[in-house]
Amino acid sequence: MLSYTSTPIQEIKSSLLEKAGVNVFVKREDLNHPFVSGNKWWKLKRNLEQAKEEGVSTLLTFGGAYSNHIYATAAAAQELGFKCIGIIRGEEITALSKTLQFATEQGMQLHFISREAYRQKAQDEFVARLKDQFGDFYLIPEGGTNSLAVQGVEEFAQQLNKEMDADFVWRVIGFSSLKGDFLSEEVRRLLDEEIEGEEVSKLERYQKSNWHIEDGYHFGGYAKHTPELLMFIKNFEKEFSIPVEHVYTGKLFFGLFDLIQRGHFPKGSKIMALHTGGLQGKLEQL
Ligand SMILES: *Cc1c(COP(=O)(O)O)cnc(C)c1O
Repeated sequence: MLSYTSTPIQEIKSSLLEKAGVNVFVKREDLNHPFVSGNKWWKLKRNLEQAKEEGVSTLLTFGGAYSNHIYATAAAAQELGFKCIGIIRGEEITALSKTLQFATEQGMQLHFISREAYRQKAQDEFVARLKDQFGDFYLIPEGGTNSLAVQGVEEFAQQLNKEMDADFVWRVIGFSSLKGDFLSEEVRRLLDEEIEGEEVSKLERYQKSNWHIEDGYHFGGYAKHTPELLMFIKNFEKEFSIPVEHVYTGKLFFGLFDLIQRGHFPKGSKIMALHTGGLQGKLEQL
């Protein structure tokens, strides 16, 4: 199994939070592994186990030049002794991004394909052609998102639930870093897959429906940012000594603080914010 370091839950305090009467805790899952960080560790866990079980020696996955998933998968493959192929969106550029440089150092074999070709990556024909080219492999989709990833994250949620010492998790809020409102549909689909064919209790069914995605904090879309977001990140890091980046976690905390300021949470609320990691993306672009 991948190495794992248990991570702290850290309360953050500020006059804003005090005034709103809410307690905010941060689960520092960014500290769980030096390279396979945050949610990526959990999304990969069951997939890696499955690949081992199937006796497949090569992993193949997809991503862009700054992808946390590519970075994490390359490191996980190296640690567990898998060969690894990364199908990278876009033509090869002379200077590799730091992310891709790292992936190469971990032994990931990079293959660059055009944006048009990349769009077909989930199609059977395309995958069959990849098998002709590279031989047998265990396929992990872009971003690592499949039902085994959902199961891995569910394991994380159960672990966190025990650590939180909470009587009840009231609601899960996701902050989208992407422009558009398609994520709710995607999450619903993945959850339905989970529930299908399973004996699910009423409580479990309720918990699986008690979530919401905020899609007003994307700052222009994936990896896009504004001076306001960058200023927020700078202040946040200074005030709380917690590193965040501009693609995911900076937007999460910006959105959370904005909702708190607007009085979205009743006084006495206890909020657990999940730091999903991905700090490698920060060094490169900021
Ligand atoms: C990949 C990633 C996400 C998004 O996770 P999904 O499961 O793909 O929605 C969030 N935060 C960080 C740091 C990530 O790297």
